[in-house]
Amino acid sequence: MRAEIIASGSELLLGEVVDTNSTFIAHKLREIGLNLYFKTVVGDNELRMAAALHIALDRADVIITTGGLGPTVDDVTRPAVARAVGRELVFRPNLMDQIAARFRAYGSPMGENNRRQAYVPAGAMPIENPVGTAPSFIVEHAGKLIISLPGVPREMEYLLVHNVLPYLQNKLDLHEVMVVRTLHTVGLGESRVDALIGTLETASNPTVGLSAKAGQVDIRITAKATTSSEAAVLIAAMEQQVREKLQDQVYGVDDETLEAVVMHMLSERHLTLASAEFGTDGKVAGRLSSVRDNPMFAGGQVLAHPETVDLDAVVQVAQAASRSYGSDLGLAAMLHPAPDGSGLKYYSALVDGDRRKTIERGFGGHAGLAAQWASTSALGLVWRYLRSET
Ligand code: ATP
Repeated sequence: MRAEIIASGSELLLGEVVDTNSTFIAHKLREIGLNLYFKTVVGDNELRMAAALHIALDRADVIITTGGLGPTVDDVTRPAVARAVGRELVFRPNLMDQIAARFRAYGSPMGENNRRQAYVPAGAMPIENPVGTAPSFIVEHAGKLIISLPGVPREMEYLLVHNVLPYLQNKLDLHEVMVVRTLHTVGLGESRVDALIGTLETASNPTVGLSAKAGQVDIRITAKATTSSEAAVLIAAMEQQVREKLQDQVYGVDDETLEAVVMHMLSERHLTLASAEFGTDGKVAGRLSSVRDNPMFAGGQVLAHPETVDLDAVVQVAQAASRSYGSDLGLAAMLHPAPDGSGLKYYSALVDGDRRKTIERGFGGHAGLAAQWASTSALGLVWRYLRSET
């Protein structure tokens, strides 16, 4: 079974609204084990929407549309679906009654154009919408399903979770679940991780995939099984192999963040940490202070104009931060344009009494990611140090 999502709305094509609906739908389809092969975004144009539906009908079994169900002329999903499956739009008095009832409940007058929303393709199965006015519907056509949901995220999510997913599981006899576990590494580049676990990336169940973020690489393990506990067993076996190959470079899993893991390690070791930084948008202190339970974070400074930016300077800055906050450890990160114009130069130091760990590196990636990358690298330095201390 193959699924496709079509998100409709010119605001999505213009870049004014981010298509978060498709992401939400994609996650949910994955959970019920329905394979998503394509995502399409199309503007508020009936012919182009119908063309997108035609293409989707050729290559997918389940097509989920989102948006374009409102009462205005530019809400084209109803006529486009009717056109794509060669049917008329028919007026459904009971849908009209439901729409009118919702307006009465809201205490607002119903516009004449809301009548449009009571027209759905002939033979469509309406999905009742208790959270909004736009009726959604399912059309079966030549053994395929077109499911049209509203664009307003709250409405779409409600209808998908409460109506559409149970309907699909039942209708398509979907008994598989898909479970994902994500391992986070820091300090290893994507190609290094790929070289270490490449042989596992060709496995089919679970699958293993990489996703590179600024300064960290995630390894996504995805298993399909008939129950969540069976999937968990498959994942655990693969996770062990991945961890062995990565030689313990995994700092956390799923929702765990590097800053929270570092804070936890500091607590376990009864060590306090202070930070100072320059050129990193205050992200090191920002991330450390964002951890809800952070008693070991003594404080952080954002420097405006350091006299020099080099390895000696960054060590001194780390020492000064530790002194001024009276902390056990001092961490400093500095990001500065390289003198030869080759991007940015990054220095980081962690001091613990007489001991020091430093990083000196160039950053040639996208400038917008530099601060995040640098803060991840600095927190990674603390993580590696604390880990090696036990
Ligand atoms: P309504 O009848 O409630 O207007 P609709 O189905 O016509 O619903 P749209 O008019 O297409 O929905 O979109 C309503 C709003 O929902 C948009 O202005 C946008 O803010 C948001 N929206 C639409 N599509 C998406 C999407 N794919 N991802 C995130 N937000 C979206």
